[in-house]
Amino acid sequence: MARNSIAKFGGTSVKTANAIRQIGHILTSNTTIRVVVVSAVGGVTNLLVELCKSPETTRAALLQKIQDIHFNLAEELILPVQDQIVQAVRRLNNIRDLSSPQMIDFALSQGEDLSSLIVQAYLVSQGLEVTHVDIRKFLITNDHFGKAVVDLTATKHQMTHFPTGLCITQGFIGSTSDGRTTTLGRGGSDYSAALLAECLNTDELLIYTDVPGVYTMDPRIVPSAHLIPELSFQEMAEMANFGAKILHPATLEPCIRGQIPVRILSTFEPDKPGTIVTVTERQNATPTISAITMRQGQLLVTIKSLKMLNAYGFLATIFSILARNKISVDLITTSEVSVALTIDITSVGSHAVNPFISNQALLDELMEFAEVVIEEDLTLLAIVGTSLTIPGIIQKTLGIIESYPIRLVCYGASNSSISVLVHKDKAVTMVQMLHQQLLGDAGV
Ligand code: ASP
Ligand code: MG
Repeated sequence: MARNSIAKFGGTSVKTANAIRQIGHILTSNTTIRVVVVSAVGGVTNLLVELCKSPETTRAALLQKIQDIHFNLAEELILPVQDQIVQAVRRLNNIRDLSSPQMIDFALSQGEDLSSLIVQAYLVSQGLEVTHVDIRKFLITNDHFGKAVVDLTATKHQMTHFPTGLCITQGFIGSTSDGRTTTLGRGGSDYSAALLAECLNTDELLIYTDVPGVYTMDPRIVPSAHLIPELSFQEMAEMANFGAKILHPATLEPCIRGQIPVRILSTFEPDKPGTIVTVTERQNATPTISAITMRQGQLLVTIKSLKMLNAYGFLATIFSILARNKISVDLITTSEVSVALTIDITSVGSHAVNPFISNQALLDELMEFAEVVIEEDLTLLAIVGTSLTIPGIIQKTLGIIESYPIRLVCYGASNSSISVLVHKDKAVTMVQMLHQQLLGDAGV
């Protein structure tokens, strides 16, 4: 049994009075938990994003909706927090420029402020001694609003002052060193919890969600998908990167640095063993396929230039332009005169937009020396496992989907994944075929 742990509860785990009561049960039966990290109430961050985008005329209705969601929870749990809820809604109402990235982050942070307030009030009402900690004082980031980068040195330093005893705090948000609220990108609460686990030297990170662990594929898409009892960090990292919604991809970094195992558990069935992500690498000589993931919203950018022929520095130029525009590239393949790369529009940050549509200057800059073709409506499928570079695996995988068009394949850079970019309309069928033949009921 771990001596101390950090527990993160996602949006669905704080969405209903019943879910919040479950948190109370979990804390009373698992006394290793030292810090509780919460997401905003499920759906609230989306409403806040909508609020920031909406015209003045529809704002009042959205604010009312946000207020009602929290009022209802407080009422059902009999908590005297109405005043604080009204204050948060007033803060939202008072924001003058809802289009500025800094103000958007401030608006989004109200979701986690409210959920942590409500959960703390509930836990206190149940006789638990829980301190509410404003994470802004501890999690220090740069000022890249929407997807701020954590300043680990400053954060570690601040965390030496983190209160002892059971605490509750907000996920997803942080602050610049001069006190302006930032967000870590959508789904960032997992990452916040992992950073806390690292900085506070915890033995285990518990991610409580609405499913009892990690599945071989999303069971809503592949009904025969099954639970994976154990995964390596490498496999989990590939899964998170390739779209398994269960964990924010950045979560594992702090856990790998701190050698902290992660357990993914269900808030609603907390006694089930869940999935453990272990620090120990599996040294398999035989390939093992653990899961298949699917990630929508992919852009394929093909950059072609005859100047690339026998030239050097072409890739460096492209990547420095992308880096300057803070665009992260996922997959890349090259030929003599072209480069194809994928960009995940959903990962651009809390304010996700297609960077090639919103940023004409970026396109112009690339088009100065190359032909640029952008394809949308693509989905990335990834086969995740161990020792996948062993002969036969790639042939087998592509053989299963040989009658379907494939736009790009990435294989060989990692032992743990094979990724295939396909058209979104064919993705589900292809994933079902792959799952059935590679993972079936018993796996390979
Ligand atoms: N509330 C934030 C979001 O919806 C962060 C999180 O849930 O992890 O993206
Ligand atoms: Mg999440």
